[in-house]
Amino acid sequence: MYDRNLLLVISGLSGAGKGTICKALVEKHPENIQCSLSATSRDVRPGEIADKTYYYIGKDKFISKIENDKFLEYAEVYGNYYGTLKEEVQRLFSLKADVILEIEMQGALQIRKRSQDAVLIFIMPPSFKELRERLLRRKRDCEEDIQNRLDKVTSELKYIKDYDYIVVNDELEDAVAKIEAIIVAEKCKMDEKTFDIEKFIKDI
Ligand code: 5GP
Repeated sequence: MYDRNLLLVISGLSGAGKGTICKALVEKHPENIQCSLSATSRDVRPGEIADKTYYYIGKDKFISKIENDKFLEYAEVYGNYYGTLKEEVQRLFSLKADVILEIEMQGALQIRKRSQDAVLIFIMPPSFKELRERLLRRKRDCEEDIQNRLDKVTSELKYIKDYDYIVVNDELEDAVAKIEAIIVAEKCKMDEKTFDIEKFIKDI
């Protein structure tokens, strides 16, 4: 009667550590938290696994799914499409889990417009200097890509005001604990749709 499953949207600056946080949350709560697997039009990168990292469906199929209204949200990022399939989210909710969408800001705002109940969380690095160092440490991008990502930071930060929560990722464990606290708080929020007063009285 009290429990409602949450749609958690997690975004953040590139290199803020959102992927690591989402992975840690699912590993810690495998029964209760699931991460939605996105579809993308881009190619598989070395080290990635089809149907595990993304559903790699190519551009034509992606566009056909847009036309057939199969996406809860989608966006074009660095020339490629990424999107959350409605079917995927329905499947995860049917497991009675909270569902995480690890997506960028344009997609997050589409979710906000569709559902006021979604919980939008923005992951921040402790500082700009630390962000640059993390991007260099993970050795995934070349120097030019890293500079492009850092140049995008100012424009990305303007989206922060549309989020419900800001979580600074200084220590991974602390960031995970903060999101766990957000989940508990959101589930305790007064919500007439899930707190059925009539049923509560009848059950006495
Ligand atoms: P990458 O190519 O590095 O895996 O991802 C590029 C960007 O696409 C990241 O910012 C990532 O969060 C975002 N992204 C991944 N999946 C989705 C999705 O389903 N929807 C949206 N809007 N963005 C996504």
